[in-house]
Amino acid sequence: MTAGLETLAAALANKETTARELTEQALAGIAATNGTLNAFLAVDAEGARRAAAESDRRRAAGKTRSRYDGIPYAVKDNFSTAGIRTTCASDMLRDYVPPFDAAAVERLHAAGFVLVGKTNMDEFAMGSVTAAPAFGAAHNPQDPARTCGGSSGGSAAAVAAGIVPFALGSDTGGSVRQPAAFCGVVGTKPTYGRVSRWGMVEFAPSLDTFGLVTGNTEDAAILTGLLAGEDARDMTCRRLSAEDYTRALGSGVRGLRVGVIGDPGNTPAVAAMLRRASEVLAAGGAEVAAVSFPYHDTAAITYRVLAYAEGASTLSRYDGVRFGLPADGQTPEEQVTNARAKGFGYEVKRRVLFGALMASGENRERYLAAAQAVRDGIRAAFDRLFERFDLLLRATAPFGAFRLDTPLTTEQGCDMDYSTVCESLAGLPAMSVPFSRDENGMPLGLQIAAPQLCEGRMFAAGAYLEANR
Ligand code: GLN
Repeated sequence: MTAGLETLAAALANKETTARELTEQALAGIAATNGTLNAFLAVDAEGARRAAAESDRRRAAGKTRSRYDGIPYAVKDNFSTAGIRTTCASDMLRDYVPPFDAAAVERLHAAGFVLVGKTNMDEFAMGSVTAAPAFGAAHNPQDPARTCGGSSGGSAAAVAAGIVPFALGSDTGGSVRQPAAFCGVVGTKPTYGRVSRWGMVEFAPSLDTFGLVTGNTEDAAILTGLLAGEDARDMTCRRLSAEDYTRALGSGVRGLRVGVIGDPGNTPAVAAMLRRASEVLAAGGAEVAAVSFPYHDTAAITYRVLAYAEGASTLSRYDGVRFGLPADGQTPEEQVTNARAKGFGYEVKRRVLFGALMASGENRERYLAAAQAVRDGIRAAFDRLFERFDLLLRATAPFGAFRLDTPLTTEQGCDMDYSTVCESLAGLPAMSVPFSRDENGMPLGLQIAAPQLCEGRMFAAGAYLEANR
């Protein structure tokens, strides 16, 4: 299903298709591809068929919940879904079935969308490859020998393979933008706090942001508008009502001041993409200038110290007693130790240990407080740039999707993350739009970032670049 939301809505309204037909197509798409792509961890065929039948009945009775009533979608497996297993790709939650829907799922349900399944991810959203040991790697639909990126890799693969028109993801340090770039689709992280993340399983709460993978920018604007808005259940959610971001879509880039950040790790193909994007923007009437943002060395490590310390704290709730896999032991302590040893995979354990170390004793001042100070510096650097520029452009990742049989070294992981973590540390809205291809023919994404709450101009530039790539 590569058609966008408005095309699907029109086809439903004109009776050229039905919710049932779209849902069957999505279910068939999962069945046909999951053996190779492993993009889905759970499929709710029965629930989806029931929801589609209800949608068709509503439409026949002239009582649709929205124009999009009956359109199928998928959700990353770290969003709570009532009655559907939610594992975070971890053995720790292998059998967890939440009793409630996450806020975003609730809102989509209220608009009549049909949930078909839960997508693969890195364990507890910790990683950039979607290869949790408990559930196995997801593969890139553009070349299954390569990674689809992560941690929302299953969502990106599902949209890129045309199974669903959109999928929900989460973005703590780049987890929707990077896989979207690797798979050739659009990844959007709205301003921190713009969309409720109630019911989205926590990794690092000062950074965790709701995210979207869509086939195009227009759908990202429609869905961000539909899902944004206050929610008392998420204390970080802004007290601002929803906005119609689609109004900005046709406005082009004339007069917009765009700063272009050329990261030193960018491969030649990525550097060439940035040059071409600058030309395209200038041709559309934007004022384009190169800017330096010298945080490559510090941003990724700052992110790691903060995110891992927060992760060590949020994951401490999984003790096998109240939450998580129960385990045996002679003493309560032994039980908890065994539950964590059994339930968590290597990467999660590594991060919890590192994070706990950073947050303990003297390290609190030495590392955690230092990282917080660098974070403030990065925020201030963005503030200064946004006095001169309306938008910032950079590559979403310094290279295209790599092969799954050449695992990422820590250094490469850091290289990749510095392109996305700065925007996360500053809570900015940022999106990745597919714009070019690398030497292997794999997609490359352009990242557009805006000041907080200025999603409209970000979508305007995204739509313009998409139409002129
Ligand atoms: N790749 C980053 C990490 O490994 C970002 C993950 C995320 O955004 N959830 O932490």
